Amino acid sequence: MFAFKASAQQGTHMFRAKILSKCAFRRKMSSRLVLGIETSCDETGAAVMDETGLILGESLHSQKEVHLKTGGIIPTVAQRLHRENIGRIVQEAMERSGVTQSQLSAVATTVKPGLALSLGIGLDFSLNFVKLHQKPFIPIHHMEAHALTVRMLQPVVFPFLVLLVSGGHSLLALARGIDDFLLLGQTLDEAPGDTMDKVARRLSLIKHPKCSMISGGQAIEILARDGNRLKFLFKPPMGAHYDCNFSFAGLRNQVTMSIQKKEEEEGVEQGTLLSCVNDIAAATQHAVASHIAKRTHRAILFCKAKDLLPSCNPTLVVSGGVASNQYIRKILKIVTDTTGLHLLCPPSKFCTDNGVMIAWNGVERLREGKGILSHTEEVNYEPKCWDSQWRDRQTGIPDCMPSCALAAGDESSRRKPSGGRRRLVLW
Ligand code: AMP
Ligand code: ZN
Repeated sequence: MFAFKASAQQGTHMFRAKILSKCAFRRKMSSRLVLGIETSCDETGAAVMDETGLILGESLHSQKEVHLKTGGIIPTVAQRLHRENIGRIVQEAMERSGVTQSQLSAVATTVKPGLALSLGIGLDFSLNFVKLHQKPFIPIHHMEAHALTVRMLQPVVFPFLVLLVSGGHSLLALARGIDDFLLLGQTLDEAPGDTMDKVARRLSLIKHPKCSMISGGQAIEILARDGNRLKFLFKPPMGAHYDCNFSFAGLRNQVTMSIQKKEEEEGVEQGTLLSCVNDIAAATQHAVASHIAKRTHRAILFCKAKDLLPSCNPTLVVSGGVASNQYIRKILKIVTDTTGLHLLCPPSKFCTDNGVMIAWNGVERLREGKGILSHTEEVNYEPKCWDSQWRDRQTGIPDCMPSCALAAGDESSRRKPSGGRRRLVLW
């Protein structure tokens, strides 16, 4: 059995962000230093980090408030805000670190995946920077950076299972090395954060006194605390799909139809806060959480059946904005406890997009000498690269769709197969 029995919450508190002390500063200044830059979506982030993972300086500008008002990210607005802020954010991170441009060993920047217009700003800025200061450039894969952030906070050895759930992504992968990921499943339509943001908008939660300044996902979590999830029953997505992929669009459609029905029953216009808003939030959160948990459970069973995880301390790392949700963490904790995995969720600050995680990925690459380019090389951004690229890296696993259907317990998979005996279907 596994020694780790702490709750997800305790697990989070086990992380200790490394804080810079003066003597540590002098010691660390002798190690190599990386400037990390993130602009893939709606956060402009920069951080300077030393080779041990010590954060010397960081700065972050979030566009979330602006996008909350317009009801979603408008790429040209995101681009303009990145352009307006990137110089200041990088300068702030550098100033806070006390590091000069000449002391940097490399610049690491997100080049994929993300919004094209947003990625372009970070990449243009970085390429100008490395040319001017003649520094090596490390192009960063945003998802890999999310997956590896946990290693900055505590030693987590490869291989480990990683679940990334946010406003733009939803995927399960086996991290086997800093540039070696086996994609087990991904969303076929939208990401869970996006779903909750859209449900929150449809419910006009921005008008709710508790929710006017927070993201849709946070609003759903807060309102769900006072709701009864059993008042609305949403059919779990993808019951008949024996794989680790996700789908949230159908669920959102069910929620939207229930909202419409309630509006008709209460005789109110769209845009009015419904009396049952807490119950809808609770039922939505539960449906999202159980879908994520079922697919994660299946991925764990697949990895175990294929002997892909170490027998000592097998770990599930959960990251992305949605990973801040305590209800989802609790359900995932049940899954990891019953399967003997160790659950690690970085603190919320490191789950969402930031420059620190990019700097850390740069450090990991610098240490292993992987993917380091000269300042004279041409680099392009790739808005939608990650799924095909991760698949290309697989070794001999066709299309990578594990189907541990029976064991994962989807309703539709409980039927007996034609042979009359239950079996674990792996492919
Ligand atoms: P990211 O895409 O990683 O920047 O994270 C932002 C996404 O996470 C948005 O879609 C938010 O609605 C979602 N999110 C943030 N906090 C929570 C939470 N507590 N519960 C659910 N979703 C959340
Ligand atoms: Zn992200």
